[in-house]
Amino acid sequence: MPALVELLAGYRRFRERSWAVEKHFYQELDSGQHPGVMVIGCADSRVDPAKIFDLVPGQAFVLRNVANLVPPYEEGGGLHGVSAALEFAVRALNVSYILVMGHQGCGGIRAALDTPPGSEPSGEFIAPWVEIIGAIRDRVMQENPGASREELSARLEFEAIRGSLDNLMTFPFVREAVEADRLALRGGLFTIATGQLHWCDPQDGRFTPIGA
Ligand SMILES: [Zn+2]
Repeated sequence: MPALVELLAGYRRFRERSWAVEKHFYQELDSGQHPGVMVIGCADSRVDPAKIFDLVPGQAFVLRNVANLVPPYEEGGGLHGVSAALEFAVRALNVSYILVMGHQGCGGIRAALDTPPGSEPSGEFIAPWVEIIGAIRDRVMQENPGASREELSARLEFEAIRGSLDNLMTFPFVREAVEADRLALRGGLFTIATGQLHWCDPQDGRFTPIGA
């Protein structure tokens, strides 16, 4: 199992090098976390927010799932992992920002495209999950007739971030904090091959590259 051997080798390097040097920092962190930002990113192994934003432990409250999606607010039962994390970030940690960060070449977004309008979702968990952006996918496909799957996927990657930002505002405690200027919502998209981050303008929803 080379993957597990590498994992444990990495842990030993961490203990011998990073932790040995920074152990006082970790011991201070033991008293509690006070991150200023929540990042909602994709579970994709290539887009680690801690790496992309050069974060240290304690700096960001990070939630990662398939395609960095936020479902709309729902009352009642169910196992609401995203909602629970949001509630904790906003109500307990009082984060100042929530960043929804997507990425180019997202397999979850492609999975949403693989379920054409009008057909039953296939797959046990992924297809129903990515149907969160089903209506957005249908609109993107209608607005771009003849576009290739790659073009549709690239457009949907941006649109899905806007959709998650909209869905965040359906949570009463998020809306309340935003309207009281205690919380701001932001969107970003990372391009793996170039390392470029595109930032979503909160006023008009347009994405522009961030300069180095
Ligand atoms: Zn992804």
